[in-house]
Amino acid sequence: MILLTPGPTPIHPRVQEALARPMRGHLDPEVISCNRNIRSLLQTLFDAGEGALVAALAGSGSLAMEAGFANLVSRGDAVLVLANGSFGERMAEMARVYGLEAGIVHFPPNAPVDPAQVREALSRKAYRLVAMVHGETSTGVINPASEIAALAREHGALFMLDVVTTAAMLPFSMQKLGVDYAFTGSQKCLSAPPGLAPFGLSARVRASLTGAQSWYTDFRRVEQYWEKEGYHCTAPVLLHFALEEALRLALEEGLEARHQRAQELYAATLAVLEETGFSAYAPKEARLHTVLVVRPPANLSEAEIRRGLYCQGIAVAGGIGPTAGQVLRLGLMGEAARRENFSAFFRALGKTLGVTGLDLAFEERLTAATAS
Ligand SMILES: *Cc1c(COP(=O)(O)O)cnc(C)c1O
Repeated sequence: MILLTPGPTPIHPRVQEALARPMRGHLDPEVISCNRNIRSLLQTLFDAGEGALVAALAGSGSLAMEAGFANLVSRGDAVLVLANGSFGERMAEMARVYGLEAGIVHFPPNAPVDPAQVREALSRKAYRLVAMVHGETSTGVINPASEIAALAREHGALFMLDVVTTAAMLPFSMQKLGVDYAFTGSQKCLSAPPGLAPFGLSARVRASLTGAQSWYTDFRRVEQYWEKEGYHCTAPVLLHFALEEALRLALEEGLEARHQRAQELYAATLAVLEETGFSAYAPKEARLHTVLVVRPPANLSEAEIRRGLYCQGIAVAGGIGPTAGQVLRLGLMGEAARRENFSAFFRALGKTLGVTGLDLAFEERLTAATAS
């Protein structure tokens, strides 16, 4: 099965091998050394700066999202959540669960977050934290992270950014952007197995932590394990081995090169899909290159297309939230974003639709794009 879903993603043979290493204890010197390597690689990935806490929680990306609301603010604090899709809505739900006074600004799902509206919301009321998703997976829309970061700072609020669909596939710097807390999930752009949620917490926020509304994700306890090398809870060490290798692979290739790989594949794939009658969901100026969301041709249902592809060994996703039942979502994250995977996708799509030559059209476009 070729996983072309927006997570989980296919894993590289080197990562698969790391996962099969013999079991060790969570405080075994080999694991401690692996954890040190992970921290140093995450420092590069997030560019979190000196004194920042970089580590990985044992859980999926949503756990790191929760950890932000549990650690950065206290019950009753006002937080501003910017939502233009399912994952923005998830942030709003969590803010409520943690007893925060959540102001939510909703934006249309097929448009990016609008800085003018955010400025207005921030000028009406003081917020302790602004939270936003960088790349909205439900719609394939990318949000203007640096503008929103600047607005948050200008208004004295902390800025929490979900970089689940962007970190490790797009160049990123917490310091340059002005992000206080960023997180991802191991199974997305890093192409590691699911189960770990890497994050970066800026030095300035770290210094002001007063106490978390969660024991498990309390950053001061997490730090006990990752930095002081003591016991907090039993770490999934085999996942640590796999994450270390996946981080190495990503940084060996380089984030610029990975971004280019996703961009070129995105453009060639979308062009051929458009010629076949599909249309892009996200507007031209705000396309997230790691998640391609398309509406099927008028006479076809997305569910039928997905079934046809699945029978031929290609897994893609349907819509969720605002796009449920309306679109196909293709992941171009990590190891998914390879020429051979998308050639196979177009071969299978051609058979499903009864059209020939889609894979050749794709190959030609991609070759032309990568040659120029
Ligand atoms: C996948 C995803 C998450 C986390 O989801 P998990 O299933 O908990 O890993 C969070 N935000 C975005 C934008 C995502 O795509």
